[in-house]
Amino acid sequence: FLALALAGGLFSGLICYRLLGRPSSPRTILRRALEAKQFEPFLQPIVDARDGGWIGAEVLMRWHLPGEGLIRPDLFIPMAERTGLILPMTRDLMQQVASVLAPHAAELPPRCHIGFNISAAHCHDPQLLGDCRDFLAAFPPGTVELWLELTERELIEPTEDTDLLFQQLDAIGVKVAIDDFGIGHASLNYLQRFTVNALKIDQSFVKRIGADTLSAHLLDTLVELAIRLDIDLVAEGVETAAQRDYLRALNVRYLQGYLFGRPMPIREFLPALHQHRNA
Ligand code: C2E
Ligand code: CA
Ligand code: CA
Ligand code: CA
Repeated sequence: FLALALAGGLFSGLICYRLLGRPSSPRTILRRALEAKQFEPFLQPIVDARDGGWIGAEVLMRWHLPGEGLIRPDLFIPMAERTGLILPMTRDLMQQVASVLAPHAAELPPRCHIGFNISAAHCHDPQLLGDCRDFLAAFPPGTVELWLELTERELIEPTEDTDLLFQQLDAIGVKVAIDDFGIGHASLNYLQRFTVNALKIDQSFVKRIGADTLSAHLLDTLVELAIRLDIDLVAEGVETAAQRDYLRALNVRYLQGYLFGRPMPIREFLPALHQHRNA
């Protein structure tokens, strides 16, 4: 049990006994949580930098653990990735989002962006394509744009299989964004091979706007790179009007951050969207 607790990180030790009253593997804990529908989608608005209008949202997973409240993804996603449960957990998340939003497709912004975070393991999952197809098929054609956010922290090994998968995703209209961009090692080559549609500038760059000139130069360079490659840019972690104005002046197209809205339970998203439109 101790070994398991250590292997599973800080969690398993604490939560095993509490939840189940007896030792369980991290995989069993997550599997039961999934069966009990404890993983929930939170949505955070993504806005057009020019006018602040909502163009869509990123879906962020939360674990609603009875008696413990909401658990942040940093605490369980790594375990979900190690145990392979991230695949069914993401599938379930996509289904939940589709079932809540699809009946209200007409109220969404045009070609509403809906972004999901995917892990490296997804790129070797034969079901991912079908899951994306199902997600899109739940909405009237053309009402939503499905984005997959692939983190630059764990670059996937390009193989013939991944090339094929990304071609197939592209063919059904799925867009790919590189998340946390600027802190990893994605090369130009890599961006071209995966036909990347957008780069999400890592929050650490946004945080330092106005604070130091080196990161301002880095930010300018990222923007030039994106323009040259004809790739959309999203800046995340925008908290202040000064950051927003700086990014807007650089022609970063989309912004995301607490300044515009925090991640919210999916049921609150449509009311918040209406309120924003009428404000
Ligand atoms: P991420 O994909 O980089 O998501 C952005 C994180 O920044 C989110 O944290 C969001 O709540 C937070 N954030 C947004 N705006 C601001 C801001 O203005 N200021 C600050 N300080 N933070 C802001 P969250 O929700 O805790 O998620 C953390 C990470 O967990 C995500 O980082 C992503 O890598 C991972 N994650 C979340 N949901 C999923 C999922 O469904 N699947 C996978 N594979 N990973 C997920
Ligand atoms: Ca993300
Ligand atoms: Ca990110
Ligand atoms: Ca991040």
